[in-house]
Amino acid sequence: MFRCAVCKERIKTDMSTVGIQCENCGAKVFYKDPPNVKKVLKAR
Ligand SMILES: [Zn+2]
Repeated sequence: MFRCAVCKERIKTDMSTVGIQCENCGAKVFYKDPPNVKKVLKAR
């Protein structure tokens, strides 16, 4: 999953397409939106 770096909208377009744009604002800058960002480390 990717997100628009401008409006934080989720990008549904698969990244195999060259030159995709944000459907919301037309930006071409995106960042990865990994499903699990939080790392929970329990110290014993
Ligand atoms: Zn956008």
